[in-house]
Amino acid sequence: MVDILVIGEVSAGRLRRATGSAVAFAERIHRLSPGTTSILVAGHGIAGAVDAATGFGADRVLVVDHPALADGALEALSPTVARVAKDHGLTLATASSFGKDLLPRIAARLDAGYVADCSEVTAEGSGLVFRRAIFAGNAWEQSRIETPRGVVGVRQSEVTPLEPSSTRASPVTTVPYEPPGAARQRVEVLAFEPVVSERPDLADARAIVAGGRMLRERFFELLEPLASELGAAIGATRAACDGGWAPQDLQIGQTGKIVAPDLYVAVGISGAIQHVAGIRQARVIVAIDRDPEAPIFELADYGLVADFEVAIPELTRLLAGGRASGRA
Ligand SMILES: Cc1cc2nc3c(=O)[nH]c(=O)nc-3n(C[C@H](O)[C@H](O)[C@H](O)COP(=O)(O)OP(=O)(O)OC[C@H]3O[C@@H](n4cnc5c(N)ncnc54)[C@H](O)[C@@H]3O)c2cc1C
Repeated sequence: MVDILVIGEVSAGRLRRATGSAVAFAERIHRLSPGTTSILVAGHGIAGAVDAATGFGADRVLVVDHPALADGALEALSPTVARVAKDHGLTLATASSFGKDLLPRIAARLDAGYVADCSEVTAEGSGLVFRRAIFAGNAWEQSRIETPRGVVGVRQSEVTPLEPSSTRASPVTTVPYEPPGAARQRVEVLAFEPVVSERPDLADARAIVAGGRMLRERFFELLEPLASELGAAIGATRAACDGGWAPQDLQIGQTGKIVAPDLYVAVGISGAIQHVAGIRQARVIVAIDRDPEAPIFELADYGLVADFEVAIPELTRLLAGGRASGRA
């Protein structure tokens, strides 16, 4: 028997789709060990997020709406989350940047065991065993939480998110805001600048076109038209981000985002182990690189040995032509 608290991920007053992965993982746990699921939605001006959270049909939705949470600083949010988490056996959130930042704080406050980036759970005896990839996806670790309460980060790319539905509902309860301690004084949020993009979020994208460092100043010029033809998000290697050719939030890999699209097109990407760690869950990988020995071809389902300066415009033209004639 385990009572689970799922921390809702709220951005600009809306519940991010990533929350659905943590709720789906809570359901998996309950198939092994029954209990209740509560979803905590915290922030300010979050009516839309609360509405969406009730659509998961959890046992209850707990709401903390307070002006002090408006800037999203986790120093302000952690004490409230930790207090609510004390009443639950397991606290879950998706292992997004939000979850990776918040969950260790909660584990520390509760003196609880923490499993980060978890993909699977099984039952062993009377306990739960959590499985997660380590060493850039080259090995699996199995962990058991020995403390009375536990904290688990759920790897979104490996747990299909549950979608909220208007046919499901949960009772909503307001819980009080817990004022933060001195840590809050040390942090000032100067501005919140959401990334505005027509393209799908990398974490949710069904198709991704990603580029390496050698695309240099032509990074977007070459990739944008192809991505538009495919309705794809754009991603990058760390080398492309470090080189200043792509913004850091597009980085895919071990120290970037882990993605699981149906289609991943790697353009001028050598296939370093740290990059590959972020794309192993892609269903179909297409690699375009001029070096036939590039390691990415060992992983790719389809490989094209070509100069991207020639291949990408040509591919884009063919796709556009196919679409125009109704074949794509
Ligand atoms: C601790 C650690 C963490 C890391 N985390 C990440 C991570 O999260 N994500 C990540 O991506 N990397 C990460 N890295 C870096 C990683 O090791 C590689 O350095 C990086 O992925 C290489 O990026 P790249 O493929 O763009 O560049 P390169 O390895 O230099 O490859 C460039 C490729 O472009 C091809 N090419 C060049 N010109 C053309 C052309 N005209 N047409 C076609 N092909 C062409 C080349 O043949 C080559 O295959 C990490 C490294 C460390 C040490």
